[in-house]
Amino acid sequence: MEDYLQEALEIVKAQASVRTMTEEEITSMVQKLAAGIKAIAEGDVVESGAPVAVDPQKAIREKSILCCACGKSFKVLTKKHLATHGMTPEEYREQYGYKKKLPLVCKSLQRERRKKMKEMQLWTKRTTAKKK
Ligand SMILES: [Zn+2]
Repeated sequence: MEDYLQEALEIVKAQASVRTMTEEEITSMVQKLAAGIKAIAEGDVVESGAPVAVDPQKAIREKSILCCACGKSFKVLTKKHLATHGMTPEEYREQYGYKKKLPLVCKSLQRERRKKMKEMQLWTKRTTAKKK
């Protein structure tokens, strides 16, 4: 049996000993846990304690943003990815010394967003002007 399945079984066994579970519940729980453990085991998440190779100040580039925790590059550093490091975006910013409001996206996307915001503001101004 593969390790992750074994691990999942152990967890479910522990659960089943503290509460009554139907066979269906047990089966689906084993499957879910096994998939989860497998994802962690096979994922390229760097274990904590590994040296951080990414300089947070250089992590945000024109076309990519590097994850300071694992060094992978993204266009947008998602909440979901940060969760794989056990961090929220807020905790991530704090840990690597970013400003609280810093968007975790690459520079080109940041610019695009800013441009869109401006366009939206212009649009709002226009519509309010019309109303008058
Ligand atoms: Zn990462």
